[in-house]
Amino acid sequence: MAEVKLINIGKTYDGGNVAVSEVNIEIHDKEFLVLVGPSGCGKSTTLRMIAGLEDISFGELYIDGKLMNNIPPSERDIAMVFQNYALYPHMTVFENMAFGLKIRKYKKSEIEERVHYASDILELKDLLHRRPKELSGGQRQRVAVGRAIVRKPKVFLFDEPLSNLDAKLRVQMRTEISKLHSRLNSTMIYVTHDQTEAMTLGDRIVLMKDGFIQQIDTPLNIYNYPLNSFVAGFIGSPSMNFIEGTIKNNGALRFISDDKSMNIPIPNIILQHIEKCVDREIIFGFRPESVQLSEVNDKSEFQFQSDIILVEPMGFEIAIYFLINGKHMTARLAQSEISGNYKNRKFNILPNKFHFFDKESGLKIY
Ligand code: ADP
Repeated sequence: MAEVKLINIGKTYDGGNVAVSEVNIEIHDKEFLVLVGPSGCGKSTTLRMIAGLEDISFGELYIDGKLMNNIPPSERDIAMVFQNYALYPHMTVFENMAFGLKIRKYKKSEIEERVHYASDILELKDLLHRRPKELSGGQRQRVAVGRAIVRKPKVFLFDEPLSNLDAKLRVQMRTEISKLHSRLNSTMIYVTHDQTEAMTLGDRIVLMKDGFIQQIDTPLNIYNYPLNSFVAGFIGSPSMNFIEGTIKNNGALRFISDDKSMNIPIPNIILQHIEKCVDREIIFGFRPESVQLSEVNDKSEFQFQSDIILVEPMGFEIAIYFLINGKHMTARLAQSEISGNYKNRKFNILPNKFHFFDKESGLKIY
């Protein structure tokens, strides 16, 4: 059992810099929880407070029901994997993995058993005699993970562990970390700025901005039901398209930009949910994959007309860029959909994939 509970946690650094505010998270036993957000949003500080590497300024931290605020890191039964690996250069892979156990005075036979168990899982068996400088980036990262595994901690903490790896290796290590979680069945808390890592690894995601939690939910719920425009824009690649407008009482969405304006009738199935927002300034959002190219003029659709201004092949799919009222929008389509010319095409936006946010607060309206 390893539940981690953060109650109203906050961190103010010396000099008054508020890094984290009112963070409440209950991390379940065996859960893989990802803290994600842009640089400086407070995710590492939150992780370091759980590890005991930073003092907690406000609130309470519990691991398995025990208050941890004043317990030193070595007694919290956690193990942390850092971005820069933090390996000892003069020690072999074996010694690096064994070190933490050695200083805790584990028996030699126990140390050997644990290091061999970890090196087996991580496929490091043939490298145990090498020193870090004789390893690739990916292998070093695995040693760093191995050093955490041998501790058999209650909770694993990962601080951007894949950021120093090239793109291909990052994807490979991501899968390995996922497999590791299934195999070890431990509680893991993982920090990253990369939304794809968050989406693919997390049982749940905590999305942070400016020290505050914006949303906690499963990856798909966050993707499908973002609570505000920040969350909507951060999760998903290419990002959600946004366009500012006003809902008019004739059931249309009015977009104004640079003196131009256009009114688009809102489909009835949506209108009933946003009627209360007449004359309110909103941000209309739709994801690139909610766009379809259409051959026909169909008044019942939420339809725009634009030239295709750029096509980016992405392999299986293509990204195309078009304009709504002079603003660049992105669509993700299957390759086969882009037949015909690029002039004056019709774009339908699927109404069941609309997002409306209040312009001022950014909060979700519908
Ligand atoms: P993230 O991990 O999301 O990039 P951090 O938790 O590292 O963000 O930082 C959150 C905020 O706290 C940032 O504004 C950062 O500049 C500030 N910060 C981080 N460490 C310190 C420190 N030791 N002293 C003062 N401010 C810090």
